[in-house]
Amino acid sequence: VQPFRIHAPLLTPISPVEMRWHPDGVVAVDSDGCILFSGDARDIPERLLSLELLETEDVLLPGFVDLHVHLPQYDCRGKFGASLMEWLDRFIFPAEARFADPEIARDTAQRFFAGLRDAGTTTAMVYSSVHARATDIAFEEAGRSGLRIVMGKVQMDRDVPEDLLESVEQSTREVIELIERWHRSSDKLWYAVTPRFAPTCTMEMLKACAGLAVRYGTYIQTHINESTGEIASVREFFPGHASYMDVYRDAGLLTDCTVLGHNIHPGDDELRMCEERGCAVAHCPDSNLFLGSGRFPLERYSSTSIRVGLGSDVGAGTTLCMFPVMRSMSYVQGRSLHPFVPLYHATLGGARALSLEGEIGSLDEGKLADMIAVRVDRHFCGGKPLEQLKPLEIASALVYRSQPSDVTAVWVGGERVLP
Ligand SMILES: [Zn+2]
Repeated sequence: VQPFRIHAPLLTPISPVEMRWHPDGVVAVDSDGCILFSGDARDIPERLLSLELLETEDVLLPGFVDLHVHLPQYDCRGKFGASLMEWLDRFIFPAEARFADPEIARDTAQRFFAGLRDAGTTTAMVYSSVHARATDIAFEEAGRSGLRIVMGKVQMDRDVPEDLLESVEQSTREVIELIERWHRSSDKLWYAVTPRFAPTCTMEMLKACAGLAVRYGTYIQTHINESTGEIASVREFFPGHASYMDVYRDAGLLTDCTVLGHNIHPGDDELRMCEERGCAVAHCPDSNLFLGSGRFPLERYSSTSIRVGLGSDVGAGTTLCMFPVMRSMSYVQGRSLHPFVPLYHATLGGARALSLEGEIGSLDEGKLADMIAVRVDRHFCGGKPLEQLKPLEIASALVYRSQPSDVTAVWVGGERVLP
């Protein structure tokens, strides 16, 4: 990376209730893509003034972290089909089956990663399809994109169409190869063992998945407690278990490297179990609104130490862009949230969920320069200059008013990936 400093307004999260706002800010980046300085322009150390200078009026933010998204569902966005289980049968399983074709896998992966980048998402946790070859292709394209990608092949051995079924043995063998090829194959790629969810997995499969993640030190991702129909089917399949969460506990899937998608209808004991095991949760409000899955109980999470990030959940989510996802996070609560809350969850909250907060998630010194520039409408606040805006005002404009096309530049580890 060519070291540089960029002179721009900058907003970066400290917590869900606190942000640093430097209307006359500077970020300086070294040759390793690390942030050397981040703050008011007048405070920059003199030795950094020799760095190449970039300037923009657009606001610098940390790149977004999309904590839950399905690559093979990219072209399924907006297919309305009632509840989760019917939607899977009617649209998603047929669409995912097409990923047996490497050309479809390649074309979709290229457009998908370009879509993430264009939306200002610099890190994503991704579900591939059940196909090992399509997952290889997805990792190749992820590597080319320059984004930080945590990804895994979906595993399932029950109650799905024949062409998506696999045995535990075959699935395990394929995943070992994928892990050995891709997990930490660069500083931007990780593997996540990915049992789809309990309704499509036997206990044997769930246990095999947990064993792989422990053996190879990978992430785990799966779905839980998204819809009432899904929860009922888990009760039916696993009558001996106290709850949905208890099925995953028994399988060994609840670890501090586990990201659970949704979990919007947890019992008190399930939430406690999630907290005790240190699992993180991917909240996907746009998807929840689209499928009518329900309301994420944010207030119950707030009294726990559970790490929560935001996911687009494309294709039940309708967009890869985290601006509308942040707005949905607010609207699904039935009240307007302070804009710091969704902005934190779309950046530092997601980084924490992946235990990457030491490296990314905010524009702090010592972290990697994963950042985006976002154009703010100058007519906001009656044309007041940006310098006069309070952090709340600038965050409001960013969260409640921005469009995907407002992302004007994207860097990952100091490397410019857009434009
Ligand atoms: Zn999902």
